[in-house]
Amino acid sequence: MKSCREIHRLVIEGQDRELGFAERFSMRVHLMICTTCKRFDAQIDLMRQALRRFPGD
Ligand SMILES: [Zn+2]
Repeated sequence: MKSCREIHRLVIEGQDRELGFAERFSMRVHLMICTTCKRFDAQIDLMRQALRRFPGD
């Protein structure tokens, strides 16, 4: 089981690169049971969508 810190890192890295199957899998499983990381993932997702509206930053 990965720690929340590792999951946060994967969530952030997932913005820049394609995660491997094992990485995606352990992230999904963790997000299913951990509210803190689920919230973090949602925040990162919102931020990414906001950034996408301002290209060429
Ligand atoms: Zn967590």
